[in-house]
Amino acid sequence: NVSPLPSLCDSGVQVILRMRPLKKDEDDDGSQIVQKISANSISIFDHTFTFDSVADTGSTQHDIFQLVGVPLVENCLAGFNSSIFAYGQTGSGKTYTMWGPSSSLTADSSLNQERGLTPRVFEMLFSRIHEEQTNLSDKKISFECHCSFLEIYNEQITDLLAPMQKNLQIREDVRTGVYVDCLTEEYVCQMKDVIQLLIKGLSNRKTGATSVNLESSRSHCVFTCVVKCRSKSMSDGSNSLRTSRINLVDLAGSERQKSTRAAGERLKEAGNINRSLSQLGNLIYILAEVSQSGKHRHVPYRDSKLTFLLQESLGGNAKLAMVCTVSPSDRCKCETFSTLRFAQRAK
Ligand code: ADP
Ligand code: MG
Repeated sequence: NVSPLPSLCDSGVQVILRMRPLKKDEDDDGSQIVQKISANSISIFDHTFTFDSVADTGSTQHDIFQLVGVPLVENCLAGFNSSIFAYGQTGSGKTYTMWGPSSSLTADSSLNQERGLTPRVFEMLFSRIHEEQTNLSDKKISFECHCSFLEIYNEQITDLLAPMQKNLQIREDVRTGVYVDCLTEEYVCQMKDVIQLLIKGLSNRKTGATSVNLESSRSHCVFTCVVKCRSKSMSDGSNSLRTSRINLVDLAGSERQKSTRAAGERLKEAGNINRSLSQLGNLIYILAEVSQSGKHRHVPYRDSKLTFLLQESLGGNAKLAMVCTVSPSDRCKCETFSTLRFAQRAK
């Protein structure tokens, strides 16, 4: 039953595999089962998997920024909607990769080597915006950035910047496209603004402990920045407005949601999480197929809140990068295989 679907790497999606270092207690097992064998491949037992790049256990936050953050900012400034997703089992390093440890998000975060992709992306974005705005040319360019931060938990959207706002609805407007009704959008123009939003939003993520794992591992977390670029020609007075989006997405843990002690709500929730992740995967493969074959196919954006919300950032000219995170430990081998298969669609 070989799948004819193209691999993620062929789809225009940039796929990075990141292996976090072994932890002390994992070290006791003595076994790192995932080994980097080249710049873009790894081996696990007698299998080999290939991606666009492999970030080894020694990779730094700066390395990951260079791989996916720099192209994201350049794509956004070139007018493309651009997204980075972190995919992997709980504990594999998604949150570390996307935002960094909470101790790294402080007023002088730019000095902290552990800060994640998001602060680094905005440092570069603001610096590039400053360059473009002060560039001497015929055009006068100005930028305006607005950020929002939301959580999708059990197919319900909560505003992480105003957590009393629960169960927000996605709407579609012929002029402005897809948007979330009543979602807070904050104007940002310096790092201080962004760091404040990150601290506020992350502290509002669901964290109540459950029998299996933390609720935060069951929700998708989406930080979006809408970048508006106005340019005015000094010679002929003509105006233009271009809008592009950056989405930074910390996905729910990819592990099979155990239903051992799940009943009722929990069981339904477990189903919703697994489904929305596999729907995201399917959708990306369908887009890849469409772009390779040129054939028309129905793209099921509306199957989950995540894909409905991000539809304008998934299809068309949008740029996607997926950082798939794994633990190198023997203990995680089943989930690691599952992440590698997702990343390569080698089933
Ligand atoms: P996830 O969000 O996938 O559940 P986390 O990002 O919370 O996983 O990572 C789990 C733990 O491992 C955290 O304590 C985190 O600081 C640590 N960690 C993850 N990735 C790395 C890394 N590349 N280097 C150092 N520590 C890491
Ligand atoms: Mg996490």
